[in-house]
Amino acid sequence: MQVHAYGAHASDQPLAPLQITRRAPGAHDVQIDIAYCGICHSDLHQVRAEWEGTQFPCVPGHEIVGRVTAVGAHVQGFKAGDLVGVGCIVDSCKHCDECAAGLENYCDGMVGTYNGPTQDEPGWTLGGYSQKIVVHERYVLRIRHPESQLAAVAPLLCAGITTFSPLRHWQAGPGKKVGVVGIGGLGHMGIKLAHAMGAHVVAFTTSESKRAAALELGADEVVVSRHADEMTAHAKSFDFILNTVAAPHDLDALLTLLKRDGTMALVGAPATPHPSPNVFNLIMKRRSIAGSMIGGIPETQEMLDFCAEHGIVSDIELIGADTINDAYERMLRGDVKYRFVIDNATLAG
Ligand SMILES: [Zn+2]
Ligand SMILES: [Zn+2]
Repeated sequence: MQVHAYGAHASDQPLAPLQITRRAPGAHDVQIDIAYCGICHSDLHQVRAEWEGTQFPCVPGHEIVGRVTAVGAHVQGFKAGDLVGVGCIVDSCKHCDECAAGLENYCDGMVGTYNGPTQDEPGWTLGGYSQKIVVHERYVLRIRHPESQLAAVAPLLCAGITTFSPLRHWQAGPGKKVGVVGIGGLGHMGIKLAHAMGAHVVAFTTSESKRAAALELGADEVVVSRHADEMTAHAKSFDFILNTVAAPHDLDALLTLLKRDGTMALVGAPATPHPSPNVFNLIMKRRSIAGSMIGGIPETQEMLDFCAEHGIVSDIELIGADTINDAYERMLRGDVKYRFVIDNATLAG
C-alpha cells in the first residue's frame, strides 16, 4: 500500500513529500492511521546523518499516535477504532534476557521505528512522518487519554518514556529531592513526571528567562546554573539528578550537588563527549553517573497510563507538514515550547 510521507533523499537536502510503501498487515500486525507525530531532536540528527548509518530516503518520526484501521488474524489486544501509539521501537529479537524482562530498548536486536533493518521495502524502517504504519502488536501501545488531547500525547512516546523510565528506576517519589537539568522537550516532561510522582523537584536552567516557565511546569524550585551562589546552596542535597542536556557541559558542577549514594542519569545523546568528570567527586560520596535510553514496552504502557491518570500531556506547537524544515531550524535554536507535533492530515498536501 502506497502512502504519503515526508522525508529526506540526502543528508544535505531538506525534507520533502514522498510516497512510501507499507506492508499488508501480517497475522500479528496492527495497521494504524497516523493522526499526529512529534518531532524529536533524534529525527534531525538522523536526517542530517549526524549519527552514523543513516539510509536514504529517510522518513523520521517515532512519537506516533493514531487510530487502528485493521489488525491481523492473531491480534488479540487491539481492534479497528482503538486509539494507539507507537514509540521508538517497532521490533526486537523477542527471546533474549532483555526482551524477556520487557526491556526491548536494551535488546541487541532492537529495531528503531525509522532507519532500522527490516524485510519491508526499502530495507530499512520508515517512521511516523507518514499517513499509515504497520507494526507488530507487541510494540503498539494503548492510549487512554481523551481524544481531544491526542496531539499532545504524541511526545510522550519518546520524550515521556525517556524521562519516566529513569525517574522510576531511581525511585523518584515522596521524600526524594530530584533535579531536572535542561528545560526543553525532554526536561519539561521530566519536571511534570517527577512532580506527579511526588518528588521535590528542582529545575536547572542556564537561562533566567525560563524560571517562571519551570515553576508553571511543576518545579518546586528553580536554579539558574550560571549563578554560583544558587548552586552552592544545593550542595550534597540531591537523591537523583535527571540530566537531559546533550550539549557537552561541566558534569562536576552537578555531581557535587548529589548527596551520598546519589545518582545523576544522562539521557541526552551528545554529538561530542562531555568533559571527563573529576573522579574525586564520585569516590568522596559514593556517587554514580549513569545513563538511560528510552524505555521498554511494558513501562511505556505504564507511563501512558500514569499520564492519563494524572492528566499529563506534553506542551506542544502543532504544525503542518510544509513547515517541518522551519521547525527543525527553530528546534535547533530552542525556539519551541516544548515540542513540535505534525498534523499528519496535512501530509497529503
Ligand atoms: Zn526521540
Ligand atoms: Zn531481544
